[in-house]
Amino acid sequence: MTILVTGGAGFIGSHLVEYLLVETGESVLVLDDFSTGREGSLPDSNRLELVDGDVCDQESIEDLVERSKSVYHLAAAVGVEKVVDEPLDSLRTNVEGTRYVLDAAAADGTPVFVASSSEVYGKSTAIPFGEDDDRVIGPTSVPRWGYANAKALDEFYALAHHDENDLPVVIGRFFNTVGPRQIGEYGMVIPTFVEQALDDDPITVYGDGTQTRTFMHVHETVEAVHELMNEPEANGRVFNIGSSDSVSINDLAQRVKNLTESESTIEHVPFEEAFDEDFEEPDHRQPDITRLRDTLGWTPDSDLDRILEDVIAERRDDVEVSS
Ligand code: UDP
Repeated sequence: MTILVTGGAGFIGSHLVEYLLVETGESVLVLDDFSTGREGSLPDSNRLELVDGDVCDQESIEDLVERSKSVYHLAAAVGVEKVVDEPLDSLRTNVEGTRYVLDAAAADGTPVFVASSSEVYGKSTAIPFGEDDDRVIGPTSVPRWGYANAKALDEFYALAHHDENDLPVVIGRFFNTVGPRQIGEYGMVIPTFVEQALDDDPITVYGDGTQTRTFMHVHETVEAVHELMNEPEANGRVFNIGSSDSVSINDLAQRVKNLTESESTIEHVPFEEAFDEDFEEPDHRQPDITRLRDTLGWTPDSDLDRILEDVIAERRDDVEVSS
C-alpha cells in the first residue's frame, strides 16, 4: 500500500511528497497532469512512483485510490490568473476531479485530505475568517467566484461522504502559501515581486496596495497537513491553514525591494489594467487559526522576512545555475 498525492508535482504537492518520503518511510504515488506542476520539482527516490494523468479520468482514479492507504487530494486548477483565464478547465478539474477521488475513497473507506482554499470566504469582511463563518460570494459573471464555489462544493461533497459513509476526511483551507519552487507565472504575488526585484524591473502592485494578505511557509503547511491527517480529532472537520500575520501589498513590495537591495521602482497598476473590468478580489484576508492551534498545538512562524529570504535565495541560485 502506498500514499497517493494528486497534484503531487505542484508547488504545495511536491513539498508534501518530499515531506512524506522523509517522515513516513512509506512509498508515495503521485498523480499529476503537469499543467502547472513540474517533474523537476520531485526528489529522486525508489519509493516514489509518478503517474502522468488527469484527475478527471475516473477509471484511473479508482485504480490509484484502490492501491493507496491514504489520499492527499491537491490536484486543482490554481492561481487567480489561470482561474480567470481558463474558467472551464478550473471548474471541471475542481468539481469532477474531487468527486471521483472522494467516490473512489468512499468505496474502500480510504482517508482523504481535501485541499480547499481561503477563496471560499469570497469577499467577506469579517476578519479574521473562522471556519464556520458565513461566505460572501460575488456574481456568477465573475469567474473567480466560480473557483470559490467549486472549492466549497468539494467541501460539501467531502463532508457528505463523511456523514453518510463514515469516510475519514480532513479539509484544509489553504491561505496564501509561499516558499521555494512557487512560480510567478500564474500571478502569485511573492514569486512575481522577487523576480521583478532581482531583475530590477518595476514591482507591480495592483490597486492601491492597501489590501492585506498573510503568508505561510510551505514547509509548515505540509507539516500541518500531515499532522492533521494523523490526528483523530481532525476527522470530518474543516481547518484554516495559514499564518495569522497580515501585511499590506505595499509593505510587501517594499520589503522585497529592501531584502534584494533592488533598484526597482514600485509601480501601482490599476486592477482593470492587470485583469478585466469586472475583476474582484478580497481587500483583506486573514485566517482565524484557533482551531488549527488547538488541534496541532503549534502555530505557523510569523517571520515574513525569513520566508522572503528563503524565496530570494532560491531565485538567486536559479539565476546562477542558468547563467
Ligand atoms: N498582486 C500584486 N501584484 C502582482 C500579483 C499580485 O499586487 O503582480 C496582489 C493581488 O492583487 C493580491 C495580492 O497581491 O491583492 C495576493 O495575490 P495572489 O495572486 O498571490 O493571491 P490572492 O490572495 O489574490 O489569491
